[in-house]
Amino acid sequence: MRVVRDRALRRVVLNLYDYACALCRTRLRWDNKVEAQAAHIKPRALLGADDVRNALALCGAHHWAFDLGLWTATDDGLVRVREPPAAEPSYEVRALGEFSRLWRPTRDSARPHAEALEWHRVNVFEQGQNGGEQ
Ligand SMILES: [Zn+2]
Repeated sequence: MRVVRDRALRRVVLNLYDYACALCRTRLRWDNKVEAQAAHIKPRALLGADDVRNALALCGAHHWAFDLGLWTATDDGLVRVREPPAAEPSYEVRALGEFSRLWRPTRDSARPHAEALEWHRVNVFEQGQNGGEQ
């Protein structure tokens, strides 16, 4: 059941985002294989909804960085990138800095929900910001 639901959500989300990452717009397709992933904004393990309004299409790199809280977005889709600890060469997020705005579907009912984005900012992005390494 869960696999079926995952596949259904993935198909809908990837279609809404035109099979491209919401951050960098990378689109890699090879026949029926699509690189972009449907990422939950609030993880399902924490009772995040299986809903397009709790999801983003992201490439592998940006999904990884989003789940770590290295970047997030405001309700208006403005991108915020986490500040690395000063002068620590093992932290590198400059590549995230070139994206200032999240691409979002035009329909309001398909856009990431403000509550989901707020949850990510408060519980993932800002937690990491205060705690340094995660
Ligand atoms: Zn990307």
